[in-house]
Amino acid sequence: MNVIEVKGLKKSYGQVHAVRGVDLSIPAGEIFALLGPNGAGKTTTVEILEGFRSRDAGEVSVLGFDPKVQGHGGRQWRDRIGIVLQSAADAGDLTVIETVDHFSGYYSKPRKPDEVLAAVGLEEKSGALIRNLSGGQRRRLDVALGIIGSPELLFLDEPTTGFDPEARRAFWALIQQLRGDGTSILLTTHYLDEAEALADRVAVINDGLIIEVSTPAELGGRATSQAVVSWRDGNQIKTEATDNPTSVVTRLNAHFGGEIPELTVTRPSLEDIYLTMIGGVHE
Ligand code: ATP
Repeated sequence: MNVIEVKGLKKSYGQVHAVRGVDLSIPAGEIFALLGPNGAGKTTTVEILEGFRSRDAGEVSVLGFDPKVQGHGGRQWRDRIGIVLQSAADAGDLTVIETVDHFSGYYSKPRKPDEVLAAVGLEEKSGALIRNLSGGQRRRLDVALGIIGSPELLFLDEPTTGFDPEARRAFWALIQQLRGDGTSILLTTHYLDEAEALADRVAVINDGLIIEVSTPAELGGRATSQAVVSWRDGNQIKTEATDNPTSVVTRLNAHFGGEIPELTVTRPSLEDIYLTMIGGVHE
């Protein structure tokens, strides 16, 4: 079963054609990442799927319902969905635990507020007022509110913006755990390492159109792209680009008669590939 099915989605704001014909199929249990530069149409697409924006054309099914049709899925549909928006609502005068408690009341199968705060690393801030949280702590609270309802499908729009590196790693572990529990996840992110660590598949969207859908390992021909072998020869670092790094290493091994000094074999990172893809069509 596909949790998300989109065909020919279009949306314009006046003269701005934000989404120009997007197709997506996301099976249950997958972590799917939407990648693209600022203004590519990611948030517009995601918010149409969440039922927060109208569309001009196309077919959309989210957990079997069309989010556009008022009352079609209704409360039962919302109950199965978790959302972390790009900019969260303000609730400055409540404490962290009050807010999480309050949100848990909206769902039929909420997680325990204490456990969710622990999962996002906010247990020590439980009694703090939201307006006194740092930016990254505030974002962690957004994530807590997204998962409090034990959603089947979780939307994460740039969830780790403002996280320190340790918090990001902890967040990745949390997302992997949610996937392990069967949660399907649609993620938008500008962090390519995050997409690589989490996503089963990624779509690159630019100027309202999807350029490619693939696994992070295979995007843009990455898996078959040339490797670069580098090593030290005397006081020089030498490099060689090759389709057959094993044969280069075998040759060097024979040449050095064993350990090859400072040997590295690298392939383009997801970010290298992504920037090449975007660079071809973006200024
Ligand atoms: P970012 O990475 O910066 O979040 P994005 O890929 O999420 O970007 P969108 O927010 O979907 O991009 O915006 C796509 C285009 O639509 C942009 O050109 C943006 O300026 C425009 N746009 C988005 N929302 C509106 C709106 N409410 N009114 C008018 N134009 C809008």
